[in-house]
Amino acid sequence: MSVEKYAVIGHPIAHSKSPLIHQAFALQFGKTIVYEKVLAPLDGFASTVQQLQQQGYVGANVTVPFKFEAYDLSQTLSERAQAAGAVNTLSFGQTQIQGDNTDGCGLVNDILKHHQTALAAKKILLLGAGGAAQGVMLPLIAQGPAQLTIANRTQDKAQAMLDKFADAGGQCGVSLAVTTFAALTETYDVVINATSAGLTETPLQFSSHVFGTHTLAYDMMYGRETPFMQQARTAGAQVADGLGMLIEQAAEAFFIWHGLRPDTAPVIQTFR
Ligand code: NDP
Repeated sequence: MSVEKYAVIGHPIAHSKSPLIHQAFALQFGKTIVYEKVLAPLDGFASTVQQLQQQGYVGANVTVPFKFEAYDLSQTLSERAQAAGAVNTLSFGQTQIQGDNTDGCGLVNDILKHHQTALAAKKILLLGAGGAAQGVMLPLIAQGPAQLTIANRTQDKAQAMLDKFADAGGQCGVSLAVTTFAALTETYDVVINATSAGLTETPLQFSSHVFGTHTLAYDMMYGRETPFMQQARTAGAQVADGLGMLIEQAAEAFFIWHGLRPDTAPVIQTFR
């Protein structure tokens, strides 16, 4: 029997941990897989996917900057991919490319499983309204928080995101709101940083009152201590980075492709 082939496609891609994560999962089940990093030219995502299909690949993860192109390329989309407007997991069927998005589920699973924080009936603050923030909206709403407040530098984007998820919020009894960084005065149970401000020299400017000593402050970034994490730590909050999210989103992709649920805790431990 030939070995199943998978890939992660991005630009850049050298830094990606996905091959190591998927190989660690495969090992748990005694499976042998091929999982490669594929650097697609910035104007060559679709042709790269086509080549992988022709070479018999089973599926591919998609990372920056191709998640929106992957969405456009998918012939069928999961509900969560539709809600996110972006795709990070492709499955190559006989005739169709199926697109899914496991980022939001990865965040929620990490918070619930590895940070022992329930989200039901909680007050959540989501910082950012980019692709990552949009991808986590539906999975967060599905947890039934009491309140989900979005703060973003560009107000229009935050408002558009709220409008998009207003119906879902209403159906789940979640109070959705939009605010500015400057207007943040309340304390939240969970504060999620879905901005890429940690990559820039300009830290987010908001009051430390958002953090209580009971607050989980979650930064989707990993691999470095961001100003957001430092601010939350100083305020006495519990601080988490996005490594667990990365590994949980991979676990969900692994489940889509293999129908098997890996044990993520030892993999997170190894990558720490
Ligand atoms: P986008 O480019 O789509 O969105 C960026 C967001 O950050 C926007 O809301 C933008 O605000 C905001 N932002 C950027 N710089 C600043 C700044 N200096 N001050 C205030 N706001 C700022 O990026 P993504 O949504 O794709 O990614 C966001 C982060 O999430 C990245 O750090 C990424 O690495 C991380 N991520 C982690 C994952 C994981 O598995 N751990 C998975 C996916 C993403 P504005 O709208 O005003 O421009």
